[in-house]
Amino acid sequence: MTEYNPYEEMLSTLDLAASKLNLEESDYNFLRYPERELKVSCPVRMDDGTIKVFEGYRVQHCSVRGPCKGGIRFHHDVNMDEVKALAAWMSLKCAVVNIPYGGGKGGIQVDPTQLSLNEIRNLTRRYTAGILPLIGPEKDIPAPDVNTNAQVMGWIMDTYSMFMGYSVPGVVTGKPLDIGGSLGRPEATGRGVMLTGREVLKKLDRSYPGTKVAIQGYGNVGRVAATLMYEEGCKITAIGDVSCSLYCEDGFDIEDVNAYWESNKGLLKGYQAQGVQEITGFELLTADVDLLVPAALENTITTDVAKALKATVIVEGANGPTTSEADKILAERGIMVVPDILANAGGVIVSYFEWVQNIQSLMWDINEVNKNLERILLRAFDEVWEARTTYDCRFRTAAYIVAMKRLVEAHNIRGVFP
Ligand code: GLU
Repeated sequence: MTEYNPYEEMLSTLDLAASKLNLEESDYNFLRYPERELKVSCPVRMDDGTIKVFEGYRVQHCSVRGPCKGGIRFHHDVNMDEVKALAAWMSLKCAVVNIPYGGGKGGIQVDPTQLSLNEIRNLTRRYTAGILPLIGPEKDIPAPDVNTNAQVMGWIMDTYSMFMGYSVPGVVTGKPLDIGGSLGRPEATGRGVMLTGREVLKKLDRSYPGTKVAIQGYGNVGRVAATLMYEEGCKITAIGDVSCSLYCEDGFDIEDVNAYWESNKGLLKGYQAQGVQEITGFELLTADVDLLVPAALENTITTDVAKALKATVIVEGANGPTTSEADKILAERGIMVVPDILANAGGVIVSYFEWVQNIQSLMWDINEVNKNLERILLRAFDEVWEARTTYDCRFRTAAYIVAMKRLVEAHNIRGVFP
């Protein structure tokens, strides 16, 4: 088997959608190459006085529809191909839900669990200084992603503002509320997963309450999706994170799990309750459930998992969790996959609201945020659902088709410079 390359995975779906749209290579080859790729080295004075150097990246994939937008992740596996793929998925994601952004992504190759808070802050500031020429409210707007949070966004906003000489809240989204963050942003991605899950079951004439759900990943996406689906009456029977995977036949008491998670540094390891047993990561993905939510990293639904899994619906909370080979198997097996660029777009939609609020210097209440999130996300869902029939293709291809149409249209209107 060839080694997994997320950028190649993205390209293969892009080509598939382009062929359905009868596009010539020259109509869409601007999407095959990121506009800008930056690699920076970030020296950090560690608490013990030594200096360590970390490598960071920022990729701007495509800005034809607006400023680049996308998160920053801290993870030991971060590399240029991954960041390029994630940036391209952001261009497609913003286009499919029709918000006026292009796609970007950043990351630092680091295991943040090995760093103190002070070291993480210094690393974040140095990285921000390194990518400073690229970012700005009109150019490229970072946000949280794997292992980054509101605090990290606050440091980015402060570092950028110090260089500019005045406060620039609109340079990042996912900030703390006190410095221009938006209500509803922390929950937005998980809420979008809950909403798209509910919508797909509705289209399939199936009820949400009572649906058995397995969720891989218990961070900002998985935990919120679990909580909101639980509130909708779903039965969450399998959950897992980096520390362990757990199964509960009768369904977890998610409030109890969350209370434990809060007190256990954000990890599930050690959680105990009546009927709860530890399982393997593979067992979680292939558990006997109706709906599976991969909400961790790329490359988790591999061919082995795709052959063995029992869920009939998958809602992709993570970016790129399913390999293209696995995707074919899922299609053959008739498993419905709500693709990442649609299913997890709730986060960037509310990032857009945050940016709009920053630019206008006003604040929306939570109802305004959630109402508009639902409106934009479900409108996109319907458009993609319809494209499935029009183009007689899989859900993922349909999402790419809707997104590519908009990107190609914008590109054609603007023309090729010079
Ligand atoms: N990191 C999130 C994503 O992958 C959010 C990006 C954003 O809000 O800009 O969609």
